[in-house]
Amino acid sequence: MPESIPESLPCVQAVLPDLPESPHSMNAFVPVPGLPRDVQVTARGWTAAEAADALFDGIAAIRARAGIQQAEVRDARLLTLMTTYLDMAVRKEDFARVKRLHKAVKLIQAGAISQDAPDSDIYFVLSQTEPSKTVYTVVGKHCDCADGQAHTEEPTYRCKHSLACWLYDKVQEPR
Ligand SMILES: [Zn+2]
Repeated sequence: MPESIPESLPCVQAVLPDLPESPHSMNAFVPVPGLPRDVQVTARGWTAAEAADALFDGIAAIRARAGIQQAEVRDARLLTLMTTYLDMAVRKEDFARVKRLHKAVKLIQAGAISQDAPDSDIYFVLSQTEPSKTVYTVVGKHCDCADGQAHTEEPTYRCKHSLACWLYDKVQEPR
């Protein structure tokens, strides 16, 4: 919704037109080069899917407004992947996964992920709550965090750390 983005970054509301009381709200924080802190994007909608759509319109508008281009190809690829997988999660009405995807992207943008060795499927992820203390180990889909351990019976489940490593790997190696 570019027309609703005011000139004054860094606080932006991307609100669906004529739906000021729409019940679903989503937030994202977008790093913008040259600004001291992340730009907050808030989007609302009658459904979570509408809110997610509005959120991505808002993020795209900010990035366009900030003139973010070739230098952030990796970021752009990440955003494209995130949009694709968010859309899939929304279609399945798996809104917990939508939230984990947002957190996964934040982990990547925070530089919290490292790979054991090139081509290894072992990754280390710094905790967002205790970055100096806690490192989670992700091997394939499996993570040793509490959320990962609580879902070991679900073969397709990925916690936010596992999602982050999966996206990180895809962003590193364009096909
Ligand atoms: Zn985890």
